[in-house]
Amino acid sequence: MAHQLPLLINGEFVASQTDQWIAVTNPATQQTLCEAPAATAEEMEQAIAAGKAAFQTWKEVPVSERARLMLRYQALLKEHHDEIAEILSQETGKTFEDAKGDVWRGIEVAEQAANIASLMMGETVENVARSIDTHSWTQPLGVCAGITPFNFPAMIPLWMFPLAIAAGNTFVLKPSEQDPMTPNRLAELFQEAGAAPGLLQVVHGGKEQVDTLLRHPDIKAVSFVGSVPVGQHVYRTATDNMKRAQCFAGAKNHMVIMPDANKEQVVSSLVGSSCGAAGQRCMAISVAVFVGDSKAWIDELASQFAQIRPGAWNDPEAAYGPQISPAAKQRVLSMIEQGKKEGATCLLDGSDCTVEGLPDGNWVGPTLFTDVTTDMAIYREEIFGPVLCCVCVDSLEEALELVNSSPYGNGTSIFTANGAAARKYQHQVEVGQVGINVPIPVPLPFFSFTGWKGSFYGDQHAYGKQGVRFYTETKTVTSRWFDSDIPVAAGPNMSINLK
Ligand code: NAD
Repeated sequence: MAHQLPLLINGEFVASQTDQWIAVTNPATQQTLCEAPAATAEEMEQAIAAGKAAFQTWKEVPVSERARLMLRYQALLKEHHDEIAEILSQETGKTFEDAKGDVWRGIEVAEQAANIASLMMGETVENVARSIDTHSWTQPLGVCAGITPFNFPAMIPLWMFPLAIAAGNTFVLKPSEQDPMTPNRLAELFQEAGAAPGLLQVVHGGKEQVDTLLRHPDIKAVSFVGSVPVGQHVYRTATDNMKRAQCFAGAKNHMVIMPDANKEQVVSSLVGSSCGAAGQRCMAISVAVFVGDSKAWIDELASQFAQIRPGAWNDPEAAYGPQISPAAKQRVLSMIEQGKKEGATCLLDGSDCTVEGLPDGNWVGPTLFTDVTTDMAIYREEIFGPVLCCVCVDSLEEALELVNSSPYGNGTSIFTANGAAARKYQHQVEVGQVGINVPIPVPLPFFSFTGWKGSFYGDQHAYGKQGVRFYTETKTVTSRWFDSDIPVAAGPNMSINLK
């Protein structure tokens, strides 16, 4: 029988009593790695209750002690960095280098959470009226919930619980059922760092468990990262249940290539940003917009695409790994098929990709389309595979119009040697994260992850100052003390008459 993953409830890793188990498979081999439980209603209740009880004491713990927990956690994560990355590679198929990046970007958020004291500072104004002062401070909310996707099983849980808990909350994490081993390992290390029981719970499952969190009166805030339809469902249900919610959803990211850009940088950036992680990144570039003469570089792009291939996590020659599941692979293949049917030119077709020694992996080879138009499904829908669509336009203005008419707004980039073109693009583009000669502009945690439009539902974004705002409530205190209230103490040092 496959190893059964435990749940983390009130500081204990417990065996679930469920009769529904979800197989977790290695996408390069289809080998079952373990089974994750679909937590029962009672277990969900226990997890939320543990968070609620722990909140009563945790919120009183001094901020510097909360920060020190994060320092110990950060150190442990660093110590176990490669080991976590290896688990991550097994269940996602990511190359080891890519898996290490996934872990590292999460560690950076734990690092930021150790700075919680300065992030929680409020504001003060003296004498808002005569002898009246106002100050504001931030207080935690209670039990927060996080629902995370398969594609970054270390980074995205770490976007959420370290900051929420450092801010004084407790947390229930429901990671993706497709790769729950990495989040469980993150949770083990959190306990090892000295987290008190109840600060973090990890429950497993799918829609049913998510819906319990969304409807439960003791969950005060919901952080979600995943696909558009689920993101909309989570946002609607959470807010309908009077909770604050931040939901990061799907994307269709464009890279605009000006004719004055550096050709080598453009081509290598396009290959990496579209096919890296098998295209399973919410910030992947999936549309290349060639302005004017830069379209002449598409041939060079095609030849570089043809030189990369997917492979095993520990194959140093592999550019990326498999799709997460056979169903995900099938979806990418049917999108490629539809692109061809709708009239796009497929310069390179990765549909029949095989990897020697791994006949059962969910492989898709690099795929490049040109002559793509905006009415085609491959242009409109998120493919989430190693597929790049090339569109040609005549001017920067036309490129801006194209990008701004997309319903998504997660990330975009422009490659150019012209500062004025870059300035115009960054100013006018309706996308929340912009790279200038940087293909995937994911901000470091002292900024926030700021997707726009259909890529984000909510107000405060992930991590950074906005993340802290999301996990806290502001209290504003206005105070007045009458001079006559000051006791005049006797003694040698109190000779001044305070009146
Ligand atoms: P998904 O929406 O299928 O799953 C995300 C989470 O929601 C999982 O924990 C899953 O168990 C749960 N879930 C699935 N169906 C549900 C339902 N009907 N009701 C309630 N919960 C449900 O997403 P995925 O396939 O795991 O992840 C890929 C998607 O995530 C892509 O669309 C990608 O763009 C997006 N993503 C976005 C960002 C971002 O920051 N904008 C980052 C990473 C991934």
